[in-house]
Amino acid sequence: MEIVKDIVRLNKIIDEIKQKGKTIGFVPTMGALHQGHLSLLQEAGKQCDVKICSVFVNPTQFNDKKDLDRYPRTPEADFALLEREACDFVFFPDEKEIYPEKEDKRVFRFGRLEELHEGRTRPGHFNGVAQVVSKLFELVKPDKAFFGQKDFQQVMIVKALVKQLNYKVEIVPCAILREADGLAMSSRNVLLSAEERKVAAHIPLWMGKLEEMFRKNTVVETILKAIKEKIALQPLMKLDYLEICDADTLEPIDTANSANRVVALLAVFVGKIRLIDNVLLQ
Ligand code: AMP
Repeated sequence: MEIVKDIVRLNKIIDEIKQKGKTIGFVPTMGALHQGHLSLLQEAGKQCDVKICSVFVNPTQFNDKKDLDRYPRTPEADFALLEREACDFVFFPDEKEIYPEKEDKRVFRFGRLEELHEGRTRPGHFNGVAQVVSKLFELVKPDKAFFGQKDFQQVMIVKALVKQLNYKVEIVPCAILREADGLAMSSRNVLLSAEERKVAAHIPLWMGKLEEMFRKNTVVETILKAIKEKIALQPLMKLDYLEICDADTLEPIDTANSANRVVALLAVFVGKIRLIDNVLLQ
């Protein structure tokens, strides 16, 4: 495995791979890797000849400076994990490699998709995601790029980005990997205190309860009220949003019949740490 820090070297590597007619599977990450990230890399290995992972904590997608400052950074451990997964190349650039000019910040528009849910709480977040993903796609030129369904809205944004810019990459959404107690794996989980980690285990239970109520045809409003009441009982937690939505537009729905595909989306603060989860209901 080669760790690549500069774009000149990366360009050379990509040219060589393309000349050999090999396909590139790409997994963009912000590091602090866990099994969830590695599952994307494994999928890339099944579908492509060469596996490339990027590790870059992208400042432009953080609307909260404190969140950026405390974001875990563990490059050495990340490289060891990637090596074990037989990753071929890790792109590990500095900020100035990705954003050489302070003013070189592209602006994207995603309409309602960037205003809802994550976009409402984190203004500018998806524009930042699109900035870095567009740069990475242009550099790595992947045939397929692998993204976790854990960031459900992000997958939709990336697909919209690919459409807008006519990139040839195929976006492959991958299932959420969970801890033994059901909590969705996240780089932010290590920031939780032991007590916070314990209460965070309620999140998958609530999502399970929500799914069960949905299957019993309970009215959407009643489901949301019941789960929000449970969350309100947890003193260490503060709900950001819980919505049941059309999975193709992410607009909240009133009844199960209003959409073909339905997803429940949740964001909750556990202490200072914001965690997200979702479940596809139909
Ligand atoms: P991040 O490093 O948090 O930006 O995540 C990099 C990629 O890994 C994104 O596509 C995430 O959706 C994905 N990812 C993060 N956590 C998980 C998980 N628990 N299961 C599957 N994919 C995940």
